[in-house]
Amino acid sequence: MRKNSLKLIVLSFFKENEIDYVFHKHDLIFSCFQCNKEANMDVATSYWHCINCHSKGNLKELIENKELFKRGINLYNPKKEKNELLGKLKQLISKQDDDKLKKQLESVYEKTYTLTNYLLNEKESI
Ligand SMILES: [Zn+2]
Repeated sequence: MRKNSLKLIVLSFFKENEIDYVFHKHDLIFSCFQCNKEANMDVATSYWHCINCHSKGNLKELIENKELFKRGINLYNPKKEKNELLGKLKQLISKQDDDKLKKQLESVYEKTYTLTNYLLNEKESI
């Protein structure tokens, strides 16, 4: 219970301050406010660490330095990429007059959808 409430506080901090983040398994990945490379946070404890510049801390340091965050630079967001990719495929399908090609594109869409959901393991994300 307590772990989950800390997770919710962490998430609301990132959302309220419009800081991009990505969930990977149990880690929340965000751009380090010191060097802008990827930093990993364990949301159960809020402890985070930057592999690049070795900055570390917990939610307190993030709150104190929130104005230093440069939004989303260097952060690859697989969910956004997935949505863009699927959106482009949908557009291609809707513009297609050739029924045979349309069916093939729909099959590509279904397979891409299934694969990306599998890879992103969306059950972990909020
Ligand atoms: Zn860093």
